[in-house]
Amino acid sequence: MESLKSLAKNVLNQEQRSTLWEWRQQYRRSLKEYHRQWQSWWQSLKYRGNNYTCPCCGGNFREFLPYGSVIVRKNAQCPRCGSLERHRLLWLFCQEKTNLFTASLQVLHIAPEKWFQNRIN
Ligand SMILES: [Zn+2]
Repeated sequence: MESLKSLAKNVLNQEQRSTLWEWRQQYRRSLKEYHRQWQSWWQSLKYRGNNYTCPCCGGNFREFLPYGSVIVRKNAQCPRCGSLERHRLLWLFCQEKTNLFTASLQVLHIAPEKWFQNRIN
């Protein structure tokens, strides 16, 4: 029995195979993004509470997630948006000490964090 890959190679031309490959990549990216969103939603629900508020996403939680590979820090990562302590500190600084969120500015942000990128776009 011929595999799907060899069948595609015999039946489709190069352009069609490229298109098929791109669709496959887009599908995989969509699945990854869906999985990430589902995980975020589930973590938010699991950690909901009133002890901590994340300034980046506004979520309220009983605690933040532990984070770190060598030294694991307790209460470090937001269950909803994934922000860490330094991100929340940067967020509060920008909110309290700058006009980044209120003025119409053009910002060059090198390697923006996802939660930050969503807010300043
Ligand atoms: Zn958050």
